[in-house]
Amino acid sequence: MARVHNFSAGPAALPLGVLEETAAELLDYRGSGMSVLEMSHRSSTYQAIYDETEACLRRILSIPDTYRVLFLQGGATLEFAAIPMNLMRTGRAGYVVSGNFAKKAWEEAQRYGEAEALATSEDTHFDRIPNLAPLADRCATGGLDYVHICQNNTIFGTMYHKLPETGEVPLVADVSSCFLSLPLDVERYGLIYAGAQKNAGPAGVTVVIAREDLIEDGPALGICPSYLDFRTQASKGSMLNTPNTFGIYLCGKVFAWVEATGGLAAMEQRNRQKAELLYSILDKSSLFHGTAQPGSRSIANVTFRTGDAELDAAFIAGARERGIEGIGGHRLVGGMRASIYNAVPMESVEALAAYMQEFEAQHTSTARSL
Ligand code: PMP
Repeated sequence: MARVHNFSAGPAALPLGVLEETAAELLDYRGSGMSVLEMSHRSSTYQAIYDETEACLRRILSIPDTYRVLFLQGGATLEFAAIPMNLMRTGRAGYVVSGNFAKKAWEEAQRYGEAEALATSEDTHFDRIPNLAPLADRCATGGLDYVHICQNNTIFGTMYHKLPETGEVPLVADVSSCFLSLPLDVERYGLIYAGAQKNAGPAGVTVVIAREDLIEDGPALGICPSYLDFRTQASKGSMLNTPNTFGIYLCGKVFAWVEATGGLAAMEQRNRQKAELLYSILDKSSLFHGTAQPGSRSIANVTFRTGDAELDAAFIAGARERGIEGIGGHRLVGGMRASIYNAVPMESVEALAAYMQEFEAQHTSTARSL
């Protein structure tokens, strides 16, 4: 079995043990005589899978009882619409525009109410988290139903190292690409959401964790489809309709793996070590440079480039020959991106680091000999 070093941004690497366990259970889930793929979502066997998946997530994130957990479909993208439809009670919310998905969330919200851009880093091609100091005053002035941030900007390789102060205004965060990469203080947020396909499981499941009091009155907007009504979904245990049964089951296995591997503190430590190895190479390199400003660097997505598109292409092609996959940058920005989510082992990062050094030595000596 040849498994590559997988640096894909999502869908992304899953822990090998999770895949093996899933394969072993594929035809007959624990004596049920059927696959989870074939099982009714209304069966007690499936309900037990669902309940343990939620319980395990609650344990690893220490989610208080005052928060509801949902496993929905439609990706983080559908939440860009669901959030304003549920939470824009006075019709105005603030958005921090720190990257492509943050901007998409902001634009989508404009369809449902006033979405105010509170800060942006678009002027420097989203190479940093913008200055958040003005947010506290703006929040104190009032009139905002929530403040939305994208906590880790997958394409630009930036992340928040400190959350903004929003006072009484609920903080809503898209944590798709840093979910389970490090501990989160759930009580700092009104709502967090994440597409599962980076750190939590396969594509097709979106985890939403919402403070009960924000959703208990039902959606702010009457046009909200019942599927996107957080109160209804919470009261139905995410089963208003058929959920992504197999995807949720896989998420449960990933959560169990996180728990058995030491929980989120351990994940953070591993991820920081992986990120530091790559950033230390970038900081010393005369060929590669990191694209995110040092104070905003992500521990999940490390973005870099040579500054020469042909050389970048040669680097990516050479990587593939060495079994290093998924390091091409997002099509919007080019260059390279190494997504080093939880299931990417240190050995993979070491293989990439060694290749970067080899490539640099080769290309700087070629340049010198010309
Ligand atoms: N937000 C972030 C931070 C993302 O990285 C992505 C996808 N890569 C999205 C939102 C969109 O997610 P989805 O494709 O699950 O709708």
